Amino acid sequence: METNTPENVAQDILNKLRMNALWEPAGLGLSYMKVGESQLKLIEQHNTPIAAQAKVRMQHLLDSIGWDIDDSEVSMIDVQNLTPQQQHMKEMQLRVEAAQKWPCPECETPLSAFPLEKGLWNFDGHQDMMLPDGEVEKDVEQWSVIIQCPVCDTQVPMEPYDYTLLAGDDLLMSYRSGNVNYTALSRLQIIEMVDAGLGNVLVLGTFCPTTGLLLPPHVRGSVVIYAPVGEEE
Ligand SMILES: [Zn+2]
Repeated sequence: METNTPENVAQDILNKLRMNALWEPAGLGLSYMKVGESQLKLIEQHNTPIAAQAKVRMQHLLDSIGWDIDDSEVSMIDVQNLTPQQQHMKEMQLRVEAAQKWPCPECETPLSAFPLEKGLWNFDGHQDMMLPDGEVEKDVEQWSVIIQCPVCDTQVPMEPYDYTLLAGDDLLMSYRSGNVNYTALSRLQIIEMVDAGLGNVLVLGTFCPTTGLLLPPHVRGSVVIYAPVGEEE
């Protein structure tokens, strides 16, 4: 049975990390990007003593598992003059910018050029997950979103969070299940639909009413309008 040493945990995270993806270990004020098979680049560092110390510790840790770090072009972020909100905005901006550079694993076409609206949500079963504090959460649903390269047709499975970074929140408003497309309605739209007495409105639970399949968490509990694929807007 494998023990959860910091080395094992880091190795596991890094192996799963997509090329050009960011790794931001919680609370350290450091943002790394995976730039090679065992190469990271330090992109951003907060100008705090915590980040400076963490950088040295991370260097040792990553050395010990055979990963190189390029820290020649790090930008220092003056977090002492930012509100927590501004910090969060900056972090999100960095993540979105990094996502724009993710390439197709086969032909280097940016994932941002894929037809993201055609992403297919796939349920990958249940798995125990280790939380950052070392606790294990049992039987967590695993989902991925499969997108297809418009150039070489490679299917690329993505973490839902990464997919959202790439595609934006708007695409989470609609969901395709089998041959039916669900589009979440705003409160105003719900009122209009109900007043007009239109019938093709549903409230979604855990399972798809048409296919009986498990729905991904983000669509459960939404009020949706449904239409056969190809007829939506
Ligand atoms: Zn491709």
